[in-house]
Amino acid sequence: MESPSRVYVPSATEVDGTAIGMGCFSTEEIAWQVLKTFLGKSEQMSLTEASVVAWDVDVLGEDGMTVLSSLEGKICPVCQRRTFWVDLEHLSALCYGSSCSAWIEQSTVDPEIVDCGWPPLRFLKQVKDIEEAYNELRTIGSDVAASMEETNDVITQQLYQSTLNDGQ
Ligand SMILES: [Zn+2]
Repeated sequence: MESPSRVYVPSATEVDGTAIGMGCFSTEEIAWQVLKTFLGKSEQMSLTEASVVAWDVDVLGEDGMTVLSSLEGKICPVCQRRTFWVDLEHLSALCYGSSCSAWIEQSTVDPEIVDCGWPPLRFLKQVKDIEEAYNELRTIGSDVAASMEETNDVITQQLYQSTLNDGQ
């Protein structure tokens, strides 16, 4: 088997600057898959950056290195976890946290338009800029938080009622 002339390296950086290696892979797709799986569990860690870099084998120094994507870790405007990964270069962002997947993306049709969405509610909206997209998602986030509190109140009330009834 011929050894690959190019390898793909996903990595992440913690707040204190420690780099986390995940191995090197023969295709970009696999490297992304590995990184995405890793970022899905990133809420327990304090990661600030993540990237996928292509390295040409046997090329000395920076000439052998191509940064394919670099992501910045942010607090998700909907679920409030540190699982919102923003690709500044390509103007896209996605929450990798479980059961969230909030996203922001520049429209492929019209670069003046920014799309954003939250799949659990099938929410989808087109806005003018990234700030507005954040605001839309923040609104969803506080709506969801409020409705969760309401649900909890109902459950608490039901529990209270049943306790009362049991006592009679
Ligand atoms: Zn989220």
